[in-house]
Amino acid sequence: DDLVGMDNLVANTAYLRAQQIDRTELRKQRLTMTLPKPRRCSAQQAAVGQKYESLCEQQPIGKKLFQQFLLASKPQYAAATMFLEELNKWSFAEDQTREKLQQHILTEFCQPASKCFISYLRGEAAEILHHLSNKNFDEEQMDKIREATKDFLKGKPFLEYLQSSFFYRFLQWKEFEKQKITDKYFYEFRTLGRGGFGEVCAVQVKHTGQMYACKKLNKRRLKKKGGERLALLEKQILEKINSLFIINLAYAYDNQTHLCLVMDLMNGGDLKFHIYNLGKRGIRMDRVIYYTAQITTGILHLHSMNIVYRDMKPENVLLDGKGQCRLSDLGLAVELPMGKTICQKVSAGTTGYMAPEILRQDIYEMVAARLPFKDFREKVQNDEVTRRTLEDKCKFEHKDFDAPTKDLINRFLKKKVENRLGCKGEDPRKQAFFQSINLHRLEAGLVEPPWVPKSNVVYAKDTNEFKDVSEEVDIQLNHKDENFFQEFSTGAVSIQWQKEMIESGVFDELNSHQMNGQSCEPRWK
Ligand code: ADP
Ligand code: MG
Ligand code: MG
Repeated sequence: DDLVGMDNLVANTAYLRAQQIDRTELRKQRLTMTLPKPRRCSAQQAAVGQKYESLCEQQPIGKKLFQQFLLASKPQYAAATMFLEELNKWSFAEDQTREKLQQHILTEFCQPASKCFISYLRGEAAEILHHLSNKNFDEEQMDKIREATKDFLKGKPFLEYLQSSFFYRFLQWKEFEKQKITDKYFYEFRTLGRGGFGEVCAVQVKHTGQMYACKKLNKRRLKKKGGERLALLEKQILEKINSLFIINLAYAYDNQTHLCLVMDLMNGGDLKFHIYNLGKRGIRMDRVIYYTAQITTGILHLHSMNIVYRDMKPENVLLDGKGQCRLSDLGLAVELPMGKTICQKVSAGTTGYMAPEILRQDIYEMVAARLPFKDFREKVQNDEVTRRTLEDKCKFEHKDFDAPTKDLINRFLKKKVENRLGCKGEDPRKQAFFQSINLHRLEAGLVEPPWVPKSNVVYAKDTNEFKDVSEEVDIQLNHKDENFFQEFSTGAVSIQWQKEMIESGVFDELNSHQMNGQSCEPRWK
């Protein structure tokens, strides 16, 4: 009725408005924030337990501070980091700008007379540099020089960094990162979906304005249904992944009643919604190709970590505000023990999407708005769908199927695993179907989405459709449960949290507050 519609409107307005926050107002509120002092034990932990790759490349704040150190200390160190930066730009540039960047690199870094000449190279890399032509270089030459530059930085510069005030600053950020996370850390907005153990709602970090989705798992319901182990597994897999094509986890915490997973907010809706609920059924071909390339890249990333996804279907592919997609719901994913291969028999998933260990029927469904072995709204037993999946040939009656699409789907739907595309280690993205996509740029998130969600539309069902009707679970929680909840509630996830600090401007602000205040000399040397 009208009141219900009103509730939904109010919830949507608050949710949309939160996404257009006033950054200056937030900055004012942050003026009094300062970084904590690192405790000695945690400082040693960070210094001893970790390697160059983690400290100076993978962790975004670590990377920034190491760069700042290099720029501020010696000309050769500064040249090395600037060179890597330019090389990176060159590597991902489109053809027109690529040539210009190459010329720039040659004149700025590769001539003995230039100010930033990279004179630290030795041996083979120095030879290559010496023989570079004035006009161009290739990927292979630059790979060697890039590696040699990293080897250089890993040596003396890295050791000097560990003794510097920049590393002390890093330890302060690590201390901040360890803060306890509670409900008070977030504002909460409307429900976006409902899962097996509770709702998923939009939240916003109070001091940064960053929006996330929070998946809540009801503790009692979890215990009653024996879902604890799976919930922990989902959390542990999520926190390992850092990919543009898979939902990333930013925080894991708990309150009195729920375990909470705080993840990338995907406010563009899921693909099922886009296939069936927006007027014309099906999705335009350029979008199908784009999403399929992103999904395949995500799957390949998981496989490279020995993780099998097992729940591929359109409702698990979510779009963000820019129109890029990610795989969500890793509740069925498993990590294979070393030695097992990806294509051994696994049984999980949803009927109609059988054997979903690699991408297959999604492309079909996006184009035809039906399943390959089950028509839209067809009433048919699961057994029959299973039989068709195992025995029938796939038919392509929809007019939008062209030759490369049919070919790709047929390869993905091969009945025998050993004949199926992607099962012998070959890259499915090399197929003709994907030829319009620059994969190198796609992997870096640099290919423009063919379709962008409208910023004033909420791509989710009305809030009243998510009303929780299940009754209270009559079950007691004990000491053992509490231990488990603590194992789950590890707080901020390093890489995602550090990204949030940088993107929201908090990183730059707190560093400059500190500079104006007390000095930040390291206290142990
Ligand atoms: P479950 O594992 O219990 O099925 P899901 O992870 O699939 O739970 O989440 C339930 C629903 O919540 C999804 O179908 C989707 O509509 C919504 N949802 C989940 N994750 C997000 C997200 N990151 N952003 C926006 N909506 C989400
Ligand atoms: Mg789900
Ligand atoms: Mg799940």
